[in-house]
Amino acid sequence: MATKDEYKRLIPGRIIGVSIDKHNNPALRMALQNPRATHSARKSNLNICTAQALLAIMASMYAVYYGADGLKQIANTVHKYAKDFAEKLQNHGFKIVHTQFFDTVCIEIMPDTWQALRKNLEKNGFNIRFKSADTVCVAFDELTNTTEVDTLVHIFSNFAPKQKNVAKSIGINKSLLRKTPFLAHDVFKQYRTETELMRYIKQLEQKDLSLTHSMIPLGSCTMKLNAAVELLPVSWQTFNSLHPFAPLQQTKGYQILLDELAQYLCDITEFEACSLQPNSGAQGEYAGLLTISKYHAAHKQSQRNVALIPSSAHGTNPASAVMSGMKVVVVKCDEHGNIDVNDLQEKAKQYQDTLACLMVTYPSTHGVYETAIRKICDIVHQYGGLVYMDGANMNAQVGLSSPGAIGADVCHLNLHKTFAIPHGGGGPGMGPICVNKKLAPFLPSHGFLDKNLRKKRLGAVSGAPFGSANILLISYAYIKLLGSDGLQKASMYAILNANYLKSRLEKHYKILYTGPHGNVAHEFILDMRAYKNTADIEVEDIAKRLMDYGFHAPTVSFPVAGTLMIEPTESENKAELDRFCDALIAIKQEIEAIAEGKADAQNNVLKNAPHTLAICTANQWNYPYSREEAAFPLPFVRHHKFWASVGRINSSYGDRNLICTCPPLASYSEEEIKV
Ligand SMILES: *Cc1c(COP(=O)(O)O)cnc(C)c1O
Repeated sequence: MATKDEYKRLIPGRIIGVSIDKHNNPALRMALQNPRATHSARKSNLNICTAQALLAIMASMYAVYYGADGLKQIANTVHKYAKDFAEKLQNHGFKIVHTQFFDTVCIEIMPDTWQALRKNLEKNGFNIRFKSADTVCVAFDELTNTTEVDTLVHIFSNFAPKQKNVAKSIGINKSLLRKTPFLAHDVFKQYRTETELMRYIKQLEQKDLSLTHSMIPLGSCTMKLNAAVELLPVSWQTFNSLHPFAPLQQTKGYQILLDELAQYLCDITEFEACSLQPNSGAQGEYAGLLTISKYHAAHKQSQRNVALIPSSAHGTNPASAVMSGMKVVVVKCDEHGNIDVNDLQEKAKQYQDTLACLMVTYPSTHGVYETAIRKICDIVHQYGGLVYMDGANMNAQVGLSSPGAIGADVCHLNLHKTFAIPHGGGGPGMGPICVNKKLAPFLPSHGFLDKNLRKKRLGAVSGAPFGSANILLISYAYIKLLGSDGLQKASMYAILNANYLKSRLEKHYKILYTGPHGNVAHEFILDMRAYKNTADIEVEDIAKRLMDYGFHAPTVSFPVAGTLMIEPTESENKAELDRFCDALIAIKQEIEAIAEGKADAQNNVLKNAPHTLAICTANQWNYPYSREEAAFPLPFVRHHKFWASVGRINSSYGDRNLICTCPPLASYSEEEIKV
């Protein structure tokens, strides 16, 4: 999605903008973090968290490789094929519906010919669009060749109209052609061989601290292993070259696979039915809430539009509620981080005539299994509402408990979290929803699959009938490979790993919330707020310092400001968990050194983190600690040093100077920078 300059601060999702780092070097960063980050977007109506980042990168590299002239050439070729085809059909007397077109030609046919035409085309390997009884559309792209155009013309010629139409002038009107330059940045001119492009992509990749370096302990994100064998089928042509609207009789294999996956997900959630449409957890929330509304409407209760949401909820929950036309009422949490059951009871009663649902995350975003969860669901049901369970934390439930068992009515599953679809950098993901018997008749439908169901059920929530069908293969493989035993073990190890980390770290840091037996679920929160007073250290300083130790920061300031939320997942072994603990414990000692006056209050390893290679190898070194303390604070760091590519980023500079398209970087380093 793109917009005019005047709307750039309003668009959903994240914008990557240009800022500067501590050393005045240009640095790219997510712009306007604070008001728009999903974690704090309570009042926002933007429910985008997981996006299609990887796919956007693929598209951008297409542009990098071809540049403006290459893209223009491709466009001209595509149009030439379309025009050539249209002109030849005109010669056979066909009527072309639109005289102006780019790549798609719509043709009038005789209604009594379409079945035979279709059969003939399919026999020759072509799927085209049968738009209505007397109109078909054929689209061309740069993979088309002249033989294909000739074959198509030949097939059509057998079905030419008896009454010949007069040929018209067709194509693109010259006045519509773009004359201004585009893709002017150097990047679109520099990488025109596969070798160069490969190196460019590798350079970019090497700036990234990924799961190939060390654990990514992002709480609420479940950054687990994405096994190579699960990813392989995504690149098989037999799966990835199918059009989402390919005739159903051509996609039977896919359908079996998707049916089985839906059944597995129902089995895991102990629910009745599943929709594979939503492309992210947040889109699942949206679809689930609309399903709930549809249910209420069918029971003549369409006034039910209040969504109760606990204060600990992920930002997408209230945003999805607002988007689906509901009113958000916040429910308090108690001092242990649990839903305040009395407050819930009061609010459910107060809104008993208009209560649509409760949205609840289980185990909660505070990292504990709420012991009152069944009671919570009962209360909501008692006052006529339904329970939406946010399934982002299913990695602590699969095989051990289930949304069905706790009494929920509908949930989404973030397949990119619990079910192994890689989502570093923001996506892609999939957020199918599962529902119980009550809601099954109201799940989203899709006109392509079933034209008759649309009246009673929800319409489509996604363009394609099975969302991002291709990446569903990953979750399918993950489930098939692990089996019920393996899936259950994965949950158990995820919980065990979190509790191991907790038991080592609680001797050094405050654990914000634990369950009644002192345990946590698959993640937990470290409270860093005290160090602001003792050492003027903020949670951000700790997050940045972790990079010097070779670790990605945990989730910062969600769901509680000034804290870190840590989720190790089942994928990490004890050695890695220990390295991560060692790093955090060493950082605690660094904080104490500041608090005790042994290290400088402002000029210290935390405030100056991360330390880049350029800084550590410069002739000048003006810091009151050694280069070794900066870059190699623990022995293990030496074996596998990750260098952050830029120093501490100046966030407010980037927000004040929001630049979304990147001018040549050279122009930055020369610019005088006032902060
Ligand atoms: C990740 C997450 C979401 C949003 O899911 P997306 O797939 O990113 O849209 C919602 N709730 C919680 C608790 C989450 O952790």
